[in-house]
Amino acid sequence: MKEWQLKLLACPFEHAPLQLDGERLICQSCGRTFPIIDGIPSFVVQDLAQVHDEQEWQWKQSEMKARNEQAVFYDRLLGLLFLTPFEVPMTTKALLGNQKRFDKLIEVGCGTGRMLQHFAKHADFVVGADLSLESLKRCRERFEKLGLWERTLLVHADASFLPFQDEIFDAVASCQMIEHVPSDRMRNKVIAEIARVLKPNGRFAISGYHYSLLTRWFGKEGVHKGGIYFFRFTCDEFMKLVSAHLNVQKLQTIFGYAWLASGVKGFKANIPKHESK
Ligand SMILES: [Zn+2]
Repeated sequence: MKEWQLKLLACPFEHAPLQLDGERLICQSCGRTFPIIDGIPSFVVQDLAQVHDEQEWQWKQSEMKARNEQAVFYDRLLGLLFLTPFEVPMTTKALLGNQKRFDKLIEVGCGTGRMLQHFAKHADFVVGADLSLESLKRCRERFEKLGLWERTLLVHADASFLPFQDEIFDAVASCQMIEHVPSDRMRNKVIAEIARVLKPNGRFAISGYHYSLLTRWFGKEGVHKGGIYFFRFTCDEFMKLVSAHLNVQKLQTIFGYAWLASGVKGFKANIPKHESK
């Protein structure tokens, strides 16, 4: 584990610094240990069950299992093949705002790196967090092939309990992840965590399922094949969620399929109307 990587990390429970001890990290405050697997520190530990209610934790277990099983073919899913060519430039533009480049960028819910590989072009140091270790292993292989691994850190983590220091990232992206967080309470916790790790005036872009004329036939809330929970947001629901902790400057819809909110961490501005594309 490199020095710059260790400096970013913190215990997911009380955000105390971690000490490297061979193939594991030890919290300097609570003493919990976190293993490093294939160069990927793992913070999805059993103690997380205690900070979730039973239903929330069951959904997360079921998603972890489904994502691990899907890791091999996820990038070839038909919907994503169609959407990705539009989603990449839209999200990148929203994330950059008037910035040219970032020092440290993180994607929360990076999966196999479908979006992160593109974000990596706009940052010196790249971090990806995900609940599925198998997806992260695929992401690592992809980043090694692309020559990005040396400046990348992947962490196995729960988005509601991020293992990072406060205010260390210049940019945070999260693409179609928030809709799979299984309760309003935990979705709020994810946005609060994104705001916590973001520097003041740091930029964010967050997308999540849009409950639109196009998607309403697939249900407001439910379970995808394989046991992955989902929730589709109305405009008000999505704005309320993100703007509770972040200053949303722009709200767009990606073809009625997903909302895309972007802006900065900082003072509150008026809530904008969304633009259609
Ligand atoms: Zn700790």
